[in-house]
Amino acid sequence: MSISTSASRPATDIPFSRESLEQVLKRRFFFAPAFDIYGGVSGLYDYGPPGCAFQANVVDTWRKHFVLEEDMLEVDCTMLTPHDVLKTSGHVDKFADWMCKDLKTGEIFRADHLVEEVLEARLKGDRAARGIEEKVEEEDEDKKKRKKKVKEVKNIKLADEVVAEYENVLAQIDGYSGEQLGQLILKYEINNPATGGKLEPPVEFNLMFETAIGPSGAIRGFLRPETAQGQFLNFAKLLEFNNEKMPFASASIGKSFRNEIAPRAGLLRVREFLMAEIEHFVDPNDKSHPKFKDVQDIKLRFLPKDVQESGSTQVVEKSVGEAVSSGMVDNQTLGYFLARVYQFLIKVGVDTDRLRFRQHMGNEMAHYASDCWDAELQTSYGWIECVGCADRSAYDLSVHAARTNASLVVRQPLPEPITVENYEVDIDKKKFGPKFKKDGGAIQKWLGSRSQCELEDYSKELADKGKIEINVKGVENTVELTSEYLKIAKVKRTEHIREFTPNVIEPSFGIGRILYSIFEHQYWARPGDADRGVLSLPPLVAPTKVLLVPLSNSADLQPIVTKVSAYLRKQQIPFKVDDSSASIGKRYARNDELGTPFGITIDFDSIKDESVTLRERDSTKQVRGSFEDVVAAIKEITYTGTTWAEGTSKLTPFESQSTDA
Ligand code: AMP
Repeated sequence: MSISTSASRPATDIPFSRESLEQVLKRRFFFAPAFDIYGGVSGLYDYGPPGCAFQANVVDTWRKHFVLEEDMLEVDCTMLTPHDVLKTSGHVDKFADWMCKDLKTGEIFRADHLVEEVLEARLKGDRAARGIEEKVEEEDEDKKKRKKKVKEVKNIKLADEVVAEYENVLAQIDGYSGEQLGQLILKYEINNPATGGKLEPPVEFNLMFETAIGPSGAIRGFLRPETAQGQFLNFAKLLEFNNEKMPFASASIGKSFRNEIAPRAGLLRVREFLMAEIEHFVDPNDKSHPKFKDVQDIKLRFLPKDVQESGSTQVVEKSVGEAVSSGMVDNQTLGYFLARVYQFLIKVGVDTDRLRFRQHMGNEMAHYASDCWDAELQTSYGWIECVGCADRSAYDLSVHAARTNASLVVRQPLPEPITVENYEVDIDKKKFGPKFKKDGGAIQKWLGSRSQCELEDYSKELADKGKIEINVKGVENTVELTSEYLKIAKVKRTEHIREFTPNVIEPSFGIGRILYSIFEHQYWARPGDADRGVLSLPPLVAPTKVLLVPLSNSADLQPIVTKVSAYLRKQQIPFKVDDSSASIGKRYARNDELGTPFGITIDFDSIKDESVTLRERDSTKQVRGSFEDVVAAIKEITYTGTTWAEGTSKLTPFESQSTDA
């Protein structure tokens, strides 16, 4: 699948410059630091008009590509979440990053990022010393921001073994525990890069923003760190809505909040961001996907865990079909989503060559997950995780069901009845109630949530010793249960219904990260002119599709400008009129920076025959025709992905007069 730009963009001799892109994004108000005039707060951004329109178009494409195409059930859940929900999900205890503090200045660093940055800087210095790269000081454009690193780099040649060791550490950087990061910091003598100051060993920092719900402050809560929990909690309602049919997926788009230790890199690491998440609920015994054959031939660039664990970052290109059949990707449904994620990213403007799927390493993956792949996009900040795709097994539904006693299961009639034998607890209620009084409920609930293995052990203990001793949360002392009060034994039953907790496959998208990566992938400068930047956003997601430019501000052109404007509005094509006195070339240049893919020029011939010129942003090619035909071509190219050549085949090439002077 190719990027659906309207025509190919010409080769340019100007290298990519992040600084120049940042200036464009700021000048055209795609986004800007929030609370700017108060000095701003890092990690918080506001989107301006083109940023809002671009984001809305990407989200709209996401909804069509996933929610509509796959009949997903969309929900919109609250962002304020009570403590108990996030305690059960594991976020209160485990949603943390490792940070270390400079003993003297109090400056705080995220431990894994610090190790990564320092080792990368040393390797860069080594390459400079070997003459492979230019000296770091000379190469960096953004010297002010990089000053800190320069101190660390020093362009020193490292021993070959040290280079290999650093590369090995970097390939596995996402998998280290806090303790391991602490050891690396000591081993490689990593200090505060700016001051050389010593650092404290890493400590855990929970990333959730805590708050109190209601005036009494009695209900502890958090701003949600992901949209997923709301989808899990509504599982039973969604299953019913879906007429109890499995598999099915829910989807949600909304803000999430994470109190990042060191927000950085613009939109890539922020404290409030838009997420789009899918929870695909599937039978744990059958993770095939009915539409897998539609995507099995799509080739993706994979970075599997064993490659990373060997210290390499070499990608393997394979079809999704091969990746699943060889067992590299755990199952068809996960493979299906990797391919669909790829198709979506390409549609909205990601460069295929700068997209890879990186598998989580064993020590990086959550203990309950059976496989996890991140769609990573390459930017000037390195490879960035933009979409996480995990098979989370039955973890989420199981923990919420155990905590609340809600039935978060699927019940399906069996084709044939089956006999099952399970350990069961049989309580003698007449004796049990009076003996345990107010603790009885908690003890029964505790017994009811034991696994088969635990019950087997308890039944043996009860048989051997005549009693078991248990500790139940909320009950003060150890509880002694003798065989007078309960029996634990294997019981045979005939079952007509199969009951199971579905597994969940979760693709989770960070929209801001995707938007920023597209900016980097689609920004370039016209050959020979570094100041003429162009954002080649695909027409489908470009904020504005058409710039309407009258050749001059003569009043004679006004009626036809009004007529074409009304027609564009009727056709629901987002457009802007630029009737300023700037030259046509300048007006187009402004809109190249805004990513506007098409320009319609209205001149004095337009008054006579209602013909207009259509200009394509990337190639600056022009064609001419009636304004209705031109608008029809724009509509077709923008919304159906038709190429410029096909879409304008009925229009006349227009070369006599260049508007790009
Ligand atoms: P996670 O739940 O950590 O796998 O995150 C899911 C997705 O959210 C990631 O793939 C990112 O695209 C996005 N994301 C996570 N943290 C941030 C952040 N601090 N700023 C922007 N996007 C983020």
